[in-house]
Amino acid sequence: MDIEPVSVGVETLSIERPAVYVVATPIGNLADIGARAIAVLGNVDRILCEDTRHSRRLLDHYAIDTPLSALHEHNERGVAAQFVERLRERRECCALISDAGTPLISDPGYVLVANAIAAGLPVISVPGPCALVAALAISGLPTDRFAFEGFLPSAAGTRATRLEALARESRTLVFYEAPHRLLATVAAMAEAFGTGRDAVVVRELSKRFETVYRAPLGELGDRLAADPNATRGEIVILVAGAPERAFEQHTVDRTLEILLADTDRKTAVRLAAALTGLGRNALYRRSLELRPDSD
Ligand code: SAM
Repeated sequence: MDIEPVSVGVETLSIERPAVYVVATPIGNLADIGARAIAVLGNVDRILCEDTRHSRRLLDHYAIDTPLSALHEHNERGVAAQFVERLRERRECCALISDAGTPLISDPGYVLVANAIAAGLPVISVPGPCALVAALAISGLPTDRFAFEGFLPSAAGTRATRLEALARESRTLVFYEAPHRLLATVAAMAEAFGTGRDAVVVRELSKRFETVYRAPLGELGDRLAADPNATRGEIVILVAGAPERAFEQHTVDRTLEILLADTDRKTAVRLAAALTGLGRNALYRRSLELRPDSD
């Protein structure tokens, strides 16, 4: 392996060849990039990025003129292996960046990293911004255990199924979402997780209009709908985990049975959801098992 020393302020950085550097870039504020990231980007043989025109703006800002090549979700399978082979043969190194934040986190790069590891190349991290971590850290929700779910499916039915599968998850849940789907997704979350579950929407992290909305899922939709800016920009949704064993199944069943004896199914499920904080869909299904003949 070749090692080239490069000065980074008071430190000296070693650029390894061959190697793949996975470099995080800003998620909005151009100043959120470290001295080591700038030095690596300026000293590798090539930078792989999703969109060369988009990344050129960041690199120009830091006077970095390293050659760029495109590696995006449509060509990654085809070019990753070829590219790794070229690095190995020519004893070169490259940096992988994405349009924003940490590569591979809801972004391309997995195939390149997997190929580099399989070929025995060092894969070196240059850490930095990542929207999920930044949002989690300011959310006020528990950070000791969390599950990152990326983007939910866009079709309502598949999204509901995925959310149902997460309803009993006790870790804090973190999702990325497109702004035009925010209101529908929050409504679907209230259905699946119950209206009482705490949730947080963080938008435009590190940018001028960074905003945080904190409310139980039952109120969050109205809060967001009341703010015309809420459905603009980039968004992370976080939901508190399910309380661990808050309600034993027999308590849930007993609640449903008492309500079903006195009222119609729809009302019984709505009241049971309010009492237990559980999702309506799961309660509805359970009510059918318990009392298939009720209205
Ligand atoms: N690799 C990126 C990272 O490290 O966070 C994520 C890329 S993913 C394609 C883009 C999504 O990340 C956006 O739709 C949004 O959900 C989230 N995101 C990125 N930047 C953000 C920001 N400044 N504020 C809030 N969410 C952001």
